[in-house]
Amino acid sequence: MSRAVCVRCGGERAGFDQICPSCGQRPEGEGLLVAWLLSSENLDNEELSRVQERVRTGESIRPSARMIDRARRQLGSHFATDAGMDVRQRVLLLTTSLLLTPLVGWVLFFWWRQDRPRASLQALALSLPATVLFTVLVPYLSLR
Ligand SMILES: [Zn+2]
Repeated sequence: MSRAVCVRCGGERAGFDQICPSCGQRPEGEGLLVAWLLSSENLDNEELSRVQERVRTGESIRPSARMIDRARRQLGSHFATDAGMDVRQRVLLLTTSLLLTPLVGWVLFFWWRQDRPRASLQALALSLPATVLFTVLVPYLSLR
């Protein structure tokens, strides 16, 4: 069974990416990496209980940069650690897709599929309608 210790209150949650049932803390971004480090994915039962004890006595858990790096590598393709594209990138991609070719979005989709799952899906979501538009509308207009 998987265990995960809440970094804020020392409570136990069913999985490292779950909301803590005791204090409501929801691990996000960097916090998700720390949450992973404090779970049975990374520590054995005894180590987990020790960490739990430390959190409960008020000690704050600050993993080293190396540990964070390790977690990032392990969680590389985890959806929630990928912030996705920002608005400017999305507008740029949409404009390129519409004015030039939707191919750009497809290339990004395949490019990011492993490392940036969220950005990859966003690229797909933006390019798909543009692709449909191109394949349906362009032949239609050129036939008239
Ligand atoms: Zn908690």
